[in-house]
Amino acid sequence: MQGRPQDPASHRRQRVSGKKTMKILVPVKRVVDYNIKVRPKADGTGVETAGLKMSMNPFDEIAVEEALRLREKGAATEVVAVSIGVQQAQDTLRTAMAMGADRAILVLTEESPEPLAVAKILKAIVERETPDLVILGKQAIDDDMNATGQMLAGLLGWPQGTFASKVELADGRAEVAREVDGGTEVVSIALPAIVTADLRLNEPRYASLPNIMKAKKKPLETLQASDLGVDTTRRLTVVSVAEPPARKAGVKVGSVEELVEKLRNEAKVI
Ligand code: AMP
Repeated sequence: MQGRPQDPASHRRQRVSGKKTMKILVPVKRVVDYNIKVRPKADGTGVETAGLKMSMNPFDEIAVEEALRLREKGAATEVVAVSIGVQQAQDTLRTAMAMGADRAILVLTEESPEPLAVAKILKAIVERETPDLVILGKQAIDDDMNATGQMLAGLLGWPQGTFASKVELADGRAEVAREVDGGTEVVSIALPAIVTADLRLNEPRYASLPNIMKAKKKPLETLQASDLGVDTTRRLTVVSVAEPPARKAGVKVGSVEELVEKLRNEAKVI
């Protein structure tokens, strides 16, 4: 989407255009580690997470990396990570700070909120922090919603560059190359704006041990979702969660003739 910011606060536009500072907010979600094969709960109400290794959502690592690279290039001055969830999400924020984020905000909720609630909470954080750019992951790998960035852009009335494979900032605008079917689309959007990170945007760095130690001393502010005056009541109901049907075993055929016969008479595809 291309467009002008509809932010009514003119002082914000002045700050962005005559910019001395350029703050990037990066929302990071704590999810089951991508190497782990999850299993549905016995009652089918969700997936089993107890005792599983949790990590930062991989697309959010890419979002953090991009924000850090923009800061290292001098295009940004501060990178703030924010996570919404249970107390343990602070580990995810420490990881973001070990990668290089300057500080972090944890918004505590009792359970993992759905995208609309996350977007509303992020809107409240954006209003407090007034970032020039928010870089989210394109989707969280736990529930594959691919919705939060778009909802946040809608709630704020900000332009968005989703599925980004390249981001450049200049003259109060972001040029975003977007991964679309069969190619790339380049959009130019006015800041402040929303970007969501796709897989090919970059390869995130690993946090070094000294940086992990340093991250323990970086500021982490904790807020309650209720303090932000946001209604996080769930509107989505999960009806059921089930494993995909098991694949049938394959068969080996002895000849091309047999293969053709099976394709014609059993599979009925030719
Ligand atoms: P989703 O719309 O749930 O697929 O998530 C898209 C992106 O929104 C993620 O990659 C994160 O950047 C952000 N996000 C979603 N949920 C949270 C959360 N609970 N805390 C922080 N960021 C989140």
